[in-house]
Amino acid sequence: MKEHLIIYNTLTRKKEVFEPINPPFVGLYVCGPTVYGDAHLGHARPAITFDLVFRYLQHLGYKVRYVRNITDVGHLTNDSDDGEDKIEKKAKLDRLEPMEIVQFYTNRYHKNMEQLNTLPPSIEPHASGHIIEQEELVKKILDNGYAYESDGSIYFDVDAYSKKYNYGKLSGRRVDELIANTRQLDGQSEKRNPADFALWKKATPEHIMRWPSPWGDGFPGWHLECSCMSQKYLGDRFDIHGGGLDLQFPHHECEIAQSTAAYGHEAVKYWMHNNMVTINGQKMGKSLGNFITLYQLFSGDNDVLEQAYSPMTIRFFILQAHYRSPLDFSNEALKAAQKGYERMMAAVNALDKIKPSAENTVAIDDLSAKCHEAMNDDLNTPILISHLFDGVRLINSLIAGNEKINPDNLTKLKKLYHDFVFDILGLKAESESASQDREVMGKILDMVMSIRTEAKQKKDWATSDKIRDELKAAGVIIKDTKDGYEWSLEN
Ligand code: ZN
Repeated sequence: MKEHLIIYNTLTRKKEVFEPINPPFVGLYVCGPTVYGDAHLGHARPAITFDLVFRYLQHLGYKVRYVRNITDVGHLTNDSDDGEDKIEKKAKLDRLEPMEIVQFYTNRYHKNMEQLNTLPPSIEPHASGHIIEQEELVKKILDNGYAYESDGSIYFDVDAYSKKYNYGKLSGRRVDELIANTRQLDGQSEKRNPADFALWKKATPEHIMRWPSPWGDGFPGWHLECSCMSQKYLGDRFDIHGGGLDLQFPHHECEIAQSTAAYGHEAVKYWMHNNMVTINGQKMGKSLGNFITLYQLFSGDNDVLEQAYSPMTIRFFILQAHYRSPLDFSNEALKAAQKGYERMMAAVNALDKIKPSAENTVAIDDLSAKCHEAMNDDLNTPILISHLFDGVRLINSLIAGNEKINPDNLTKLKKLYHDFVFDILGLKAESESASQDREVMGKILDMVMSIRTEAKQKKDWATSDKIRDELKAAGVIIKDTKDGYEWSLEN
């Protein structure tokens, strides 16, 4: 750990030298998914960003406890204190037990995470498994005078808190503006102040997800679980809290307020936020209806997609941008990422073809230093990747015999690529290149489909239906279009 890792702390709005509270241990908490639907490209970004943080800290020699929660209760529509629980709403629509929804989408999320080659967190706590702890936290905040009961619900008292602490310090919002902005929307007469937020909500009679509490049957507010579970597993002072920029307000702001109100001091030393994924400059999200799920990206089954993109293409696409920069989706950008990823992997595979020589004309230590420098500068993966591509040119020159490398440097070069490409960037070889598979499959399908077209022209419906049905049985879905057909694979 001789190297100085510098990270941008969203709380201080400055780049800071990373100094863990209790080295070599590092506590890392990241807000995980709300499990009521499939993960989309927007979810892949925090997952990959903080996987990179997790991997790099371990590479530097830290012992990291990475906690990423599963939100399975209390996340109401539009992130407000009213409306339905998102999971419960889906459960009612599909006539399922809410925990069936939770299990189903948690399994699918895990599969996506494995496909993207993100390492599993050390602990993955569910909000529904920590109701007692959340009630204890509510009691503490009540006892400390920063919350009040109102008709069976408990609200955080932003006014009382603001007399001693700074509510809005993370997002840069001012309490008076928050009150002014929320006043018009206020149908919530239970609250003393429109900026107050729910710690505990009273359950209406039809609400399914409910637990007994000293204040009657109810359920915890969404922000509470992260304050509670981060403290339980990482202590009331820990190193890094991460999440998407869209969580900065209100979610993370409320977390800071809750933790400070409970413990009398802030819990988190460094706040890190990844920027958003946009489609044509617009934020991607369920409510906007423009999201592409990871399953769709991997199968190509979405009208926006010109082809399928493999998980490693998606990973490379995300890593090619700095985590604090916005990232815009387009087919062109993803195709470029696919080429970049394939070029990188081809070079890694070609390392074995290099023959060491007695002579040496290359400086591997320089390249290695530059790669570390890029990562130490707030995890600058685009710069890192550009250095690794400089190295790809070097590898090609070595194979062509235009440069010479001695055995010692060759060992270093191999280790450099192994460390950065596999261990840190978390890329892996895709068994056979997914795009090659698709190309071959496309050609076979073209052939089969031309037989089907001929059969249709001859009014040989038996053959044409047989082809369609058997492709369907094999998991290939054919859609007839004006210009011919489109195909996709079932998930
Ligand atoms: Zn959270």
